Amino acid sequence: MKTDLRALLSGQIEALDFDQDSSLTQMQRGGDTLGFNSPIHVQGRLSRLEDGVVFFSGRLDTVVKTVCGRCLEPVLEPFSIEFGEVVYADGKEEEYDLIIEPEGPTFDLDAFCEAILELNLPVSFLCREDCKGLCPICGTNLNTSECNCKENQIDQRFAKLKDLLQESKNK
Ligand SMILES: [Zn+2]
Ligand SMILES: [Zn+2]
Repeated sequence: MKTDLRALLSGQIEALDFDQDSSLTQMQRGGDTLGFNSPIHVQGRLSRLEDGVVFFSGRLDTVVKTVCGRCLEPVLEPFSIEFGEVVYADGKEEEYDLIIEPEGPTFDLDAFCEAILELNLPVSFLCREDCKGLCPICGTNLNTSECNCKENQIDQRFAKLKDLLQESKNK
């Protein structure tokens, strides 16, 4: 989904109000696939900062669809962020830190959303603050049931200790 910036760059218009949904429905991040349960909605204003330079300020809202970083259960997490970025800088790319590589005098909403989310989404999501996660030994979801792995492990350690004590006594 691309927006032509020529009218803005030529000074024909001073600013362009922007209100669109991105067609981006998922993205890769650190080996995980993140989906979006509601479209990524972007609202803001494209404006000419100086000759050949377009600035975009606004707000992005979506609902991220992923899995809990601890227990792997599905998670839906609303996410919003306010941004202000230079999205086009003809011949001045060095001066401005562009978060997307524009092709021609256009603004690519999907590429922009991906870049903003990449930079700002939390590293992982949790189903709830105090998620207990999965047992590292048997894989039981400790939020919904219990297992005896921990106790068994402790018992085993004590058993070993007993053996050692026994051995040293027998010497
Ligand atoms: Zn969880
Ligand atoms: Zn277990």
